[in-house]
Amino acid sequence: MVILNEGSVRLKSLSFAELESYIVSLGEPKFRAKQVFEWMFKGVRSFDEMNNIPKTLKEKLKEGADLEAAKILKVQTSRKDGTRKYLFELNDGQCIESVLMRYSYGNTVCISSQAGCRMACSFCASCLGGLGRNLTAGEISDQVLAVSADIGQKVDNIVVMGVGEPFDNYENLSAFLENITDSRGFGLSRRSITVSTCGLVPKIKQFAEDYPQVTLAISLHAPNDTLRSELMPVNRKYGLDNLLSACREYISVTNKRITFEYILLKGVNDSPAQAQELAERLSGLLCHVNLIPFNGVDERSYAPTDRKRAEAFRTELKSRGIEATIRRELGDDIDGACGQLRRKTGR
Ligand code: SAH
Repeated sequence: MVILNEGSVRLKSLSFAELESYIVSLGEPKFRAKQVFEWMFKGVRSFDEMNNIPKTLKEKLKEGADLEAAKILKVQTSRKDGTRKYLFELNDGQCIESVLMRYSYGNTVCISSQAGCRMACSFCASCLGGLGRNLTAGEISDQVLAVSADIGQKVDNIVVMGVGEPFDNYENLSAFLENITDSRGFGLSRRSITVSTCGLVPKIKQFAEDYPQVTLAISLHAPNDTLRSELMPVNRKYGLDNLLSACREYISVTNKRITFEYILLKGVNDSPAQAQELAERLSGLLCHVNLIPFNGVDERSYAPTDRKRAEAFRTELKSRGIEATIRRELGDDIDGACGQLRRKTGR
């Protein structure tokens, strides 16, 4: 039940009930679990900071457990908008990145779910080195806690849109969602969380059942199978008909609107005819299209669509009854694109 890693317990990855059992197995009273859980999800970086815990317990924890507090290797801050990009080193040397975005409605943290990715989308930097490994639930939570501790402010929203495919690491994503929303700790509302997937159909259905309050975003990027399969190999397994029917099912179970992400790539998927085709595919779906300006990636040859053409694409969608917005570019002066910072470390 308790997750072991090289002999030490991954403390922040345990569920509350598992933490209680672990504490009891150390010969300590059960109520200590609540104190440890509270401290962990307040974002302390060491056991010594848990100052209502007896020294004996601290010693036992230091010996047998790992707090899963990642080391901040680097922070880049945008001079334009205060966006902060974090590069973390995990305890086995893997690197991951997270981004803090400051909106008028609060602080949003964009977090990674895997070190690397195996989805191999042709425009993305995250998969260039393949999949390193899945992140543990604790490592996913810790990104939020570390950013919050670093800025000394609360985090209002979480988007799981960083490096990795969250539905390719469903079990740990799920344990993370349980812990970060637990009112005994960080207590974020499920409605303040968005998970983005490239379209792993069986998991979309499961997610609708498991987390109907969490917002779902789907990376679409193309209006037909030919182009989507070229850009996103996952489409060869789960084609558009299959994907969109899972979306319909999701909406009927959750009653929630889906966000479709659509990166605009110059001369690839940004023509008025493609906007029409997209509108037809999405017609009748409770959804919203988020048009994303492509963020240049050194190893990729795509170029961003210019503003005028992006506006025209949006207008075309709107005239056909599909809600669409163009995502504001934040932090484009600091290696904004997914996986770029991590990529530069070569890890
Ligand atoms: N694997 C998940 C979540 C991570 S990607 C998914 O595919 O949704 C998060 C979003 O960033 C996706 O919509 C992805 O397509 C987009 N993205 C990746 N590379 C990008 C780039 N260079 N410029 C702009 N958006 C990018």
